[in-house]
Amino acid sequence: MCPSCEPAAAANGNGASNGASNGANGSAKGKDANHDGFTAIESKVHKNVSPYQPVGDFLSNVSSFKIIESTLREGEQFANAFFDTAKKIEIAKALDDFGVDYIELTSPAASEQSRADCEAICKLGLKAKILTHIRCNMSDARLAVQTGVDGVDVVIGTSSYLMEHSHGKDMTYITNTAIEVINFVKSHNIEIRFSSEDSFRSSLVDLLSIYSTVDKIGVNRVGIADTVGCASPRQVYDLVRTLRGVVSCDIETHFHNDTGCAIANAYCALEAGATHVDTSVLGIGERNGITPLGGLMARMIAADRDYVISKYKLHKLKDLEDLVAQAVEVNIPFNNPVTGFCAFTHKAGIHAKAILNNPSTYEIINPSDFGLSRYVHFASRLTGWNAIKSRASQLNIEMTDEQYKQVTQKIKALADIRPIAIDDADSIIRAFHLGIKTGKEVELLPNMTAEEKALLAEKEASVTGKRALDEITEPAAKKVNNGA
Ligand SMILES: [Zn+2]
Repeated sequence: MCPSCEPAAAANGNGASNGASNGANGSAKGKDANHDGFTAIESKVHKNVSPYQPVGDFLSNVSSFKIIESTLREGEQFANAFFDTAKKIEIAKALDDFGVDYIELTSPAASEQSRADCEAICKLGLKAKILTHIRCNMSDARLAVQTGVDGVDVVIGTSSYLMEHSHGKDMTYITNTAIEVINFVKSHNIEIRFSSEDSFRSSLVDLLSIYSTVDKIGVNRVGIADTVGCASPRQVYDLVRTLRGVVSCDIETHFHNDTGCAIANAYCALEAGATHVDTSVLGIGERNGITPLGGLMARMIAADRDYVISKYKLHKLKDLEDLVAQAVEVNIPFNNPVTGFCAFTHKAGIHAKAILNNPSTYEIINPSDFGLSRYVHFASRLTGWNAIKSRASQLNIEMTDEQYKQVTQKIKALADIRPIAIDDADSIIRAFHLGIKTGKEVELLPNMTAEEKALLAEKEASVTGKRALDEITEPAAKKVNNGA
């Protein structure tokens, strides 16, 4: 946590308990920002994101996927979401600017305002295609085609649970209705996707049979949806791969995150030949939501940086997430990929030393691809003399390596006694340097209590003369962090 950062953009009961800070990686703050215990550092930029080659697969669309962004449909189902027309338009424009391929909107059949908002967004003239998401029936379809959308996403439940407890229809009825709705939408020359709901708990025979039928009558995409978030990556791979052998149209995928697999499942689906992934900003949606746009970007940039960078304005991700987080009154989670406040903060001395030499050592994603900075946390007992040397150079202080090691030992000794702030570490570096220049004894920290001074002297005495700093730094870091 970084309490001196900007206050949380918005907080409600839920958001407030999620942490008080969103800001440490903020692009606006950049590398000039100071946060207690953190400092932005400049270091060599890594050329290759991943030294590993992706697994080759001739059906894989990892390098050619498209995003169907559903913050304004699935996201509206998030418990905290209420978007008025102005907010929907602001979010739609931000998504379009980011570069998503499609923007999916709530069904015009949901409410009169939903219908009016759908029409308003269609009139914005965005680059992204506008879709609306409807139930598989003619009255919803008639409303949808009148809104001016570029395409309609049709969904119907095919699992035994839904057939029995939700709509109560059998597969013959579902197939006949699907054919009628699809032909109707196609006659208006707009895109049509047909999706089952709860696909992973539906009969495979039923699924393949209906997908094969709708593919033959010419849908643009079929969709599979893990509506309850139960699927594992391997199940996803198997189902998409099987479906890829049955239909020739595009395959859209929709993954809920109930069991934490939403990003992994989306990636696996693309590897198996799916073409489109549904996302929402921060993953907001029904229950705990779906594949998050930012998390998917993190996953995909590690797989094909050139494709992701060429298509999406990644430096706008933080602003986009802030916009939606504020609108639904949550904070960006501390462990969010890319934009979590410590996503690019390195703490252990052993990590910091390597990061200063070559960031690829401990980073798979380059923060500058997202317009963000990396930080080294140097004001802690885990720090090392390379991090302190880097900080000293930011303070325009130059010393010998031996002197950096000596001052690092003092900082570590103090950090063993109490938590220290960036100002404390800076004061020690400055005072130590002044002492060298003047040849006089300088008090390292003026605000220390007599008790702290005594403890510090004891700590220093117990270390000095025993081992050189390099020897105490790295095993100590390993011991605490297990080298991870
Ligand atoms: Zn959903």
